Amino acid sequence: MMKAFQFIAAQKPAELREVPVPEPGAGQVLIKIGGAGACHSDLHILEAPPKPGPARKPFTLGHENAGWVEKLGPGATGFSIGDPVIVYGPWGCGLCMNCRVGRENYCQNPGDTKAGGLGSDGGMAPYFLVPSTRFLIPLGTLDPRDAAPLSDAALTSYHAVKRSLHLLGPGSTAVVIGAGGLGQMAIQILRVLSGATTIIAVDTSSDKLAIAKSMGADEALISSDAAVTRIKDMTRGQGAELVLDLVGANPTLDMAARVARVLGHLTIVGLGSGAVPVNFRGPAMECSVSSPYWGYIPELIEVVSLAQAGKIKMLVEHFPLERAAEAYHLLHEGKINGRAVITPHD
Ligand code: NAD
Ligand code: ZN
Ligand code: ZN
Repeated sequence: MMKAFQFIAAQKPAELREVPVPEPGAGQVLIKIGGAGACHSDLHILEAPPKPGPARKPFTLGHENAGWVEKLGPGATGFSIGDPVIVYGPWGCGLCMNCRVGRENYCQNPGDTKAGGLGSDGGMAPYFLVPSTRFLIPLGTLDPRDAAPLSDAALTSYHAVKRSLHLLGPGSTAVVIGAGGLGQMAIQILRVLSGATTIIAVDTSSDKLAIAKSMGADEALISSDAAVTRIKDMTRGQGAELVLDLVGANPTLDMAARVARVLGHLTIVGLGSGAVPVNFRGPAMECSVSSPYWGYIPELIEVVSLAQAGKIKMLVEHFPLERAAEAYHLLHEGKINGRAVITPHD
């Protein structure tokens, strides 16, 4: 048996519970968890009212995982016991067109899709069962306790930036709204993928803005009408080529719609359940609005390469499993500087 930090029911605090250590079946792999990141999406899941229909069953949280290969199920190949690995989170069928090109986050067989830590058991426990070695990426010399957030905070930001990279040449501007776990990665990724773009970070917290500046933001603005004016001034009235909203609440989406330029991208990553009206009056002409989910397997390989080269680095705070509830409490209060990572073997 082992302790696991579990979602119990809607709007109830998550709890540490005793569960069996999973046994890997055919093709599966058991991971000894080094680190499991605490993502704001978990707070959305824990805090949301129950959905109509059958209640969600308890499951272990943690969808941002890295560790070491502990045990290979019959027929599972490609890795050896003890290999340090990061786990690609969204698990598709593996056989549809999107899965075959590594886009398992957009599997075309929804009945077959799963993500450990988002409805089924995740990594906030000493051991984590992964359905196939195709979801593992070798970490090389990176420490799994620090690398875990690469699989979501970095991958999601990387995907959201990369799809807009053609807009971000010299003289361009990218606005990052919400400089928390994802936002800090987005800023570093923008800096390295598009050295010449001007990066503007927007947040409600001056502490987060100071971190954003240290990570490469050119300008850091408190979320307000004054921020809209400043962004317009900085872009000669045009607005920004890319506006990444990593909050997704009505006030931030409203700001995003006002500062995205003609032919720009307004990209909604935050699950703040706001909405942006799209019609002929706004956002700007031919500005595309999209809501990407997570990222592709090849992109995770690229993200790991960036981290191995020392070009991106998550600001991590470690918490043993016994302090997981405290980590989420601090995240809720906005008091985690970068990413809280649960380390069950510490
Ligand atoms: P976080 O708590 O680490 O960071 C959120 C940041 O937003 C904080 O710095 C906070 O101060 C700031 N903020 C809050 N309200 C704001 C406002 N009105 N204006 C400006 N800034 C504000 O959260 P995170 O883990 O980085 O996650 C960010 C969002 O992205 C969450 O909604 C999460 O659910 C979502 N998410 C989406 C995906 C996806 O695939 N689309 C993946 C991961 C996370
Ligand atoms: Zn997440
Ligand atoms: Zn598929």
